[in-house]
Amino acid sequence: MKEGDRYLMSTYARFPLVLKQGKGATVVDVDGNRYLDFVSGIAVDSLGHCDPRLVKALQKQAAQLLHVSNLYYNLPQIELAKLLVTHSFADKVFFCNSGAEANEAAIKLARKFAKEKRDPSRFEIIAAQGAFHGRTLATVTATGQEKYQKGFDPLLPGFRHVPYGDPEAMEKAITPQTAAILLEPIQGEGGVRVPPKGYLTKVREICDRHRLLLILDEVQTGIGRTGRLFAYEHEGIAPDIMTLAKGLGGGVPIGAMLAGAEVAASFTPGSHASTFGGNPLVCAAGVAVMKQVTQGAFLKGVRDKGAYLMKKLAQLQRKTPVIKEVRGVGLIAAVDLTIPAVDVINKAMAQGLLLNRTSDQTLRFVPPLTIRRTEIDRMIALLTDIFTELPHAEA
Ligand SMILES: *Cc1c(COP(=O)(O)O)cnc(C)c1O
Repeated sequence: MKEGDRYLMSTYARFPLVLKQGKGATVVDVDGNRYLDFVSGIAVDSLGHCDPRLVKALQKQAAQLLHVSNLYYNLPQIELAKLLVTHSFADKVFFCNSGAEANEAAIKLARKFAKEKRDPSRFEIIAAQGAFHGRTLATVTATGQEKYQKGFDPLLPGFRHVPYGDPEAMEKAITPQTAAILLEPIQGEGGVRVPPKGYLTKVREICDRHRLLLILDEVQTGIGRTGRLFAYEHEGIAPDIMTLAKGLGGGVPIGAMLAGAEVAASFTPGSHASTFGGNPLVCAAGVAVMKQVTQGAFLKGVRDKGAYLMKKLAQLQRKTPVIKEVRGVGLIAAVDLTIPAVDVINKAMAQGLLLNRTSDQTLRFVPPLTIRRTEIDRMIALLTDIFTELPHAEA
């Protein structure tokens, strides 16, 4: 840790924990201590740690071909694109390496499409307050939160922010320059904010009425996290553009931007590119993840376990005055506390449980999608002990 602090830039407030290996929902530190992982790399390790089929796919691909330029085709990239298209609204896929990069691509495509196919004056994007879309200059502008933007101005022109979950406010913010609306189906970093039922349907109607593109950022909610492959399926609507990253590679860095054929056609050779985007190694991982998540009863399992997690958290809330609210869909959940979340996280860590917070008083639960009910029980039992023992829990 001393060497880490000496040689790494101080962009993260790290916990004093050096992780070395993992299996399923368990990670092990360099001293051999075991932790039940309800962070899973922040909704990344969708199949748990070192899933045998994912490891095998990576080993096989690493021994065959790691990387070639997008000057050429490669088979895993085509296979993954086909899987994504087959299982979504989209016709075409662009691969990149992260969520921010996928959102950058979405913003660029939306602007280019709007200028070419709607009106050259259109460039504005309306996003939501409390959103998180990434840390590059365009996506941090789209994120629209002071705490992520301070010191980095001037930001990119052409972004407006409206309250999340309020379709009327959204419609009022539209101008003749508006090109697209950018939203998370559930705000993940914002504290697992689930919008009112029907919100996305209303936003879809607004987009259609004003001929705007709907961009859904499913970087956190996509690939089964909410119990459906994509969160937009819960409302029976489809976006025009969707971005993916986090869970798609099960732990390898991959991002993707998907669109319908008409919108995708605005990207032509030379419009956009990414050196590493869609290389054989990461796409082999994506294929392994997609095959498992879309197979048999996997997603039903996520829905059932998600319902179980919500039930257990609600039971816990009835037992302790420390929990103010429980939110979630599938295996993405959060609780608002009356006490600092970091106190709970530190106690949990000491007892072998990894938890994460989205703000001072909000804990987030994003376990691997392969989490077992017995592991949910263990997490709840540990949390129950912690809340009972906390000195200020009585208040
Ligand atoms: C994490 C996240 C991002 C940014 O992804 P990076 O891979 O860190 O760039 C963008 N949007 C959402 C909704 C996210 O949760």
